[in-house]
Amino acid sequence: MQAAPADQQRLLDLQALDSKLDQLAHRRRTLPQLAEHAALETRVGQLRDLLVASTTAQSDLAREQRKAEADVDQVRSRAERDRKLLDSGSVGAKELSNLQSELESLAKRQSDLEDIVLEVMERVEAADARTAELTKQRDEAEADLARVTTALAEERAAVDKDLAFAKSQRDLLAAQLPADLIALYEKLRAQYGGIGAAAIKQRRCEGCRLELDIAEINEIRAAAPDLVLRHDSCRRILVRTAESGL
Ligand SMILES: [Zn+2]
Repeated sequence: MQAAPADQQRLLDLQALDSKLDQLAHRRRTLPQLAEHAALETRVGQLRDLLVASTTAQSDLAREQRKAEADVDQVRSRAERDRKLLDSGSVGAKELSNLQSELESLAKRQSDLEDIVLEVMERVEAADARTAELTKQRDEAEADLARVTTALAEERAAVDKDLAFAKSQRDLLAAQLPADLIALYEKLRAQYGGIGAAAIKQRRCEGCRLELDIAEINEIRAAAPDLVLRHDSCRRILVRTAESGL
């Protein structure tokens, strides 16, 4: 293949722009905020789940507390009724003895139920504290997530701006180069890790970093300037420059 030496030089400029575009795309995929963002999303999700569990536990406990308090009320009013009967003096000896023993067992029952109420209230207090702590942690995690989301969007927008600029330069340059040269370059670029054309610098291929041997140097020296050279070792297009050392 043949191409004007100036077009071969510009192919190196195109390669530089394509490499820059590749780097920018890689940077966009690996922005440091991405990992932080993912970790915070997970944490916010976990805290929301824990809060749902905690508020469910709170309402279960509230129900338990109401039930325990109602049980105490029931025992208390029964004892009150019994005492009134006793105080009325209208009961017989047998009933009197029954009422007295019932009052004793009601007192014991009331004390047990009050212990239960106290125990439930302690659990309510613990559940309230847990919900408050989880709410605080969730709010903090959500604020962190919002901050990182904004930072990530800003970082992406900056990279996108650089990408768009490099892309427009690249397209402008590509449009000026011969179609067959571009086609070969694109094919090689796809095959060989994004590098399709490389300069010879101090007798070294900048594509694969191998030093050219004397036979290759002699071959290149003898080649017409508009012959498109290829490196035997890496197959890439080789471009002669002022720094080639030929
Ligand atoms: Zn090479």
